[in-house]
Amino acid sequence: MSQPILSVRNLVKTYPNGVQALKGVSFDVQPGEFLVVIGLSGSGKSTLLRCFNQLNQATSGQVLFHDQDITQLRGQDVRQLRSKIAMIFQHFNLIQRHTVLSNVLMGSLSRTSTLASLLGLFDKEDVEKARSFLKLVGIEEKAYIRAGQLSGGQQQRVAIARALVTDPAVIFADEPTGNLDTSRSHEIMKLLEDLN
Ligand code: ADP
Repeated sequence: MSQPILSVRNLVKTYPNGVQALKGVSFDVQPGEFLVVIGLSGSGKSTLLRCFNQLNQATSGQVLFHDQDITQLRGQDVRQLRSKIAMIFQHFNLIQRHTVLSNVLMGSLSRTSTLASLLGLFDKEDVEKARSFLKLVGIEEKAYIRAGQLSGGQQQRVAIARALVTDPAVIFADEPTGNLDTSRSHEIMKLLEDLN
């Protein structure tokens, strides 16, 4: 078997108020694997994901990403880690008054200067790439519509395109269908599976 892309070892997270959200979680994720974590509300799913991108600091245990223990990273190293992983959220986290295309381009912001991004001056190559991902997720024709005017399912497609544009090594999705009806949920899960 190939080397896991992610290896979680005995991960423990105890919040300052004493709640033990993770009690020694261990599992591996192989390259190309599509892993779904299912559990009751409050069982620790978000806590687990937040330990992967350092929004939460684990109390003990290891998270090996490409063999590096990411629970020990700080400062600049955390920023570097975050450029290799992408997150998708239940509430989409789009800028509602910006166009679909500009939301996707936000994904490539780490490579764009602050002034250029404020003025909406994106690299031609980045625009082409963003458009190609919008095509991949099936909403290319919405590129110049404001994100706030799209349905929930369409907004999640934009968020997925925004995640893809960074060429992430891994995508973490926290209840990506939590805000969608059953039919849209199936479509989004199918899309994520196909993209994977
Ligand atoms: P899930 O994502 O499965 O709904 P969470 O990871 O959000 O679960 O929560 C797991 C447990 O940790 C719950 O008991 C929740 O109340 C608690 N919890 C989550 N965030 C915090 C926090 N910042 N401070 C204290 N307790 C928290």
